[in-house]
Amino acid sequence: MQANGGGGRYSRQVLFPPIGERGQEQIRAATVCLVGCGALGSLAAEALVRAGIGRLRVIDRDYVDFSNLQRQWLYAEEDARNEVPKAVAAATRLRQLNSEVLLEPLVSDVTPSNIEELLEDCALILDGTDNFETRYLLNDFSVKHGRPWVYGAAIGSYGLTMPVDAERGPCFRCVYSESPAGQQPTCDVNGVIAPATATVAAWQVAAAMRLLVGWPDFACAIHSFDVWAGTSRRISAGPRDPNCVCCGSRRFEFLDGQRASPVSLCGRNAVQLHVTAKRLDLAALAIDLRALGEVRVNEFALRVSIPKFEVTVFPDGRAIVKGTTDVAVAKGVYAQLVGA
Ligand SMILES: [Zn+2]
Repeated sequence: MQANGGGGRYSRQVLFPPIGERGQEQIRAATVCLVGCGALGSLAAEALVRAGIGRLRVIDRDYVDFSNLQRQWLYAEEDARNEVPKAVAAATRLRQLNSEVLLEPLVSDVTPSNIEELLEDCALILDGTDNFETRYLLNDFSVKHGRPWVYGAAIGSYGLTMPVDAERGPCFRCVYSESPAGQQPTCDVNGVIAPATATVAAWQVAAAMRLLVGWPDFACAIHSFDVWAGTSRRISAGPRDPNCVCCGSRRFEFLDGQRASPVSLCGRNAVQLHVTAKRLDLAALAIDLRALGEVRVNEFALRVSIPKFEVTVFPDGRAIVKGTTDVAVAKGVYAQLVGA
């Protein structure tokens, strides 16, 4: 039996002239890294896997929750019930879609201390994150090493996207010199609908395909749209800013930063803490915690529940404290359960 029978698995894509046989080979030869596998990431991952990408690394720090299922298309109710890490659940589903793709799921947060190792061999990076801090970090890496990345964000019914290739256009910090975090609406407050996230991800995948096949017209622009209002706009991202801290002065402030700071996770009523850089022995920790609350442990995570809070500890030294968006409260809960 031929895996590529029936007219060729990728025949419709190969018939599209800008891709063709040559483009398909370039797609097959490529390693792409997806940072964050939520709503944008799940659609982008599925599209790239179906398109026959050679290797896809899926990095995500979180686990599947029922509130994800409305828009995070790779996940099923069982993943939420079992609180499976998104990277693991994604890889399981993606393998069913295309066994020719080499999938590398990583349950991890991308931080200044691990980004070089995690993204080193990737030709292209797709942004599936929900925060500016990680995007600035991706941008620093991208500019420093000359690897393109594709920004995407969605809120409510609105979305925007922009490809970044600092050798051919402005970088992310040329456009957003300082983080608007805190002044921006978040999906905690405003919600988000699946058509908005799907549209952003579709634009990101199209940009990724153009970059992978070496399409000469880079067309660096910010595309924004509102799927509810039915409007869209293309804004030129402008020329590179010669005074840009990142691509102008080549000062990589985020890459050179210290360990990641605690963050409130968008839409999750939860805070992520980086507790230690050491790997943790979850089985041993589980024994210590049994007196304090209900403990569940598997190879990916340990979860301890007490009234109002649930703490999930990962082997890489991270923890997610569910039940608050206040970093100080989360640190207190963690200290009380696991120690400071
Ligand atoms: Zn720049």
